[in-house]
Amino acid sequence: MSRVLRKLSEVEELLSLTSQEREAFHKVTLIYPFSSTEYYLKLAESSPAVRKMLLPSLSEIDPEVQKEGEDDPLMEERDAVTPKLTHRYPDRVLLVTTNFCPVLCRYCMRKRNWKKPTFTISEREIEEAVSYISSNSRVRDVLISGGDPLTLPLDILEKLLFELKRIPHVEVVRIGTRVPVVDPESVLRKELLSLLERAEKVWVNTHFNHPDEITPEAKEAVRALLKSGAPVNNQTVLLKGVNNSVEILEKLFRNLQKIKVRPYYLFHCDPVKGVMHFSTPITEGLKILRELFKRLSPLVIPYYAVDGPGGYGKVPLLPHRFRVENGKYLFESFNGRWFEMEDR
Ligand SMILES: *Cc1c(COP(=O)(O)O)cnc(C)c1O
Repeated sequence: MSRVLRKLSEVEELLSLTSQEREAFHKVTLIYPFSSTEYYLKLAESSPAVRKMLLPSLSEIDPEVQKEGEDDPLMEERDAVTPKLTHRYPDRVLLVTTNFCPVLCRYCMRKRNWKKPTFTISEREIEEAVSYISSNSRVRDVLISGGDPLTLPLDILEKLLFELKRIPHVEVVRIGTRVPVVDPESVLRKELLSLLERAEKVWVNTHFNHPDEITPEAKEAVRALLKSGAPVNNQTVLLKGVNNSVEILEKLFRNLQKIKVRPYYLFHCDPVKGVMHFSTPITEGLKILRELFKRLSPLVIPYYAVDGPGGYGKVPLLPHRFRVENGKYLFESFNGRWFEMEDR
């Protein structure tokens, strides 16, 4: 892994901060720490959107913002079946393998884990999770999440991937990672790419939120992942002041397609404590999506989804493009004309 920068003095060697940003850094990092790679910090210099996702802001500790949201609204920990494994849907499980991320995104859905000392899944925890999955033949898809799983020591990642490879009913292993975005160079490690290739069942979900993040370096990282045989899909979070606009998302999804990454999810911001200043109304998300459907092929339109607070799981949302009247369906076309069809 590339070196991570945590201190204000390290940051200021690479990026000049306003006095407001410096004040926020001092106050906010007492509660929510800062971390970045050199690469991503440099990207913040030319990109206001990256800056907003990266630098601490006083809003995080604003009492009004703090009052709303919860530490674990999705109840991942309540619904855990072994220490790091959440089994919510019949056929899919979620495994949290570490709480380490090279870059701490200010809108993080697992901000609760920032307070814990750094952990990496132990061999024993891997064995417990694998034993649970082995004995549940309905589980065909294992999501490996974190923190960032691509920061795991390669022997741990190898053990996990090869244990899963041996379970016949596990058909898909998904790795959720932001490393291609924040530390693309480390994706190019030969041992890592060889491991992903040999593990065979691997799909990678990246986490690009803004077109500024699609740099030549990120493109090369994605290319290497694709070459390892992993399909690459992307999960974006809808973030106020970062990407809550038709133009930005249109560009993001088109540019993702150019690097052969398919947009999979556009997540509505989860109601997490210390994150609510990034939240946009669902109504606004749907309005943006409606416009995107007029402009883009559905091949590059992700599912806009809410994740039900309380552990209800994800619900994909579509903007209404039809209504039913007198037993007939009325549809809205891409350019706003309406047509009808009988229901037969
Ligand atoms: C998101 C999630 C999954 C995977 O859901 P998909 O909709 O298939 O991407 C599985 N388990 C948990 C607990 C999740 O939060």
